[in-house]
Amino acid sequence: MSEVDVTKDSAPGGDDLVVLENVNKHFGALHVLQDIDLTIARGEVVVVIGPSGSGKSTLCRTINRLETVDSGTIRIDGEPLPAEGRELARLRADVGMVFQSFNLFAHKTVLENVTLGQIKVRKAAKAKAEEKARQLLDRVGVGSQADKYPAQLSGGQQQRVAIARALAMDPKVMLFDEPTSALDPEMINEVLEVMQQLARDGMTMVVVTHEMGFARSAANRVLFMADGRIVEQARPDQFFTAPKSDRAKDFLSKIL
Ligand code: ADP
Ligand code: MG
Repeated sequence: MSEVDVTKDSAPGGDDLVVLENVNKHFGALHVLQDIDLTIARGEVVVVIGPSGSGKSTLCRTINRLETVDSGTIRIDGEPLPAEGRELARLRADVGMVFQSFNLFAHKTVLENVTLGQIKVRKAAKAKAEEKARQLLDRVGVGSQADKYPAQLSGGQQQRVAIARALAMDPKVMLFDEPTSALDPEMINEVLEVMQQLARDGMTMVVVTHEMGFARSAANRVLFMADGRIVEQARPDQFFTAPKSDRAKDFLSKIL
């Protein structure tokens, strides 16, 4: 596994793919993200953990501008994220997102789910988009399901289609927000294995998960969030064996 220096400063250009500087966000009176500074290197796998309500999903959603921020800057591969418009659509497509609830288009086939964004946003020709979709569906192990509708698939299969759909946009970074939390237990591993493989292939990933086995084996860095702040971050072996903050110790004692 590659070593990533979690203490290094962000350098423009270079190998910093996702850079958040002093990001703040409120929902009314709730200060949901507080002074978030976060730099993610190309190829790095960051697992985000923390109690419910600590801001993990909001952090993911701000990284691709599903949520606006009140202050601070977010850059993807050196480019600041605009608030709206065509540029936003293009840059947002650089950030693949996989949600807890698979969010597939129910009235489109599996194949159409994976070609739609390629055709509409990336302006790919239909035949090219389908060829790529079939390759990706094979890669995540659901190639034989291409002509079915999402409801005909198991949860684990649907989530793998969602991953293929995100990958079809050639994202620079993939965000996963509790991708296995809605799955029956026997389907969790088939999704985690696809994510493991993606990590091994060098994809830059931000993964919110309660799957500590995945964190231990795939993460370069674990971020622990509480009350809208990044309270602690460390390599997984360090974090799980010797958490520093009381909040992290308390959290780990409840889940491990
Ligand atoms: P986590 O993913 O860590 O459970 P979230 O980012 O979903 O946390 O939420 C952080 C806090 O922000 C919670 O208190 C939640 O209720 C609140 N929140 C999230 N989304 C909204 C919203 N759209 N409007 C108001 N409050 C929200
Ligand atoms: Mg959440």
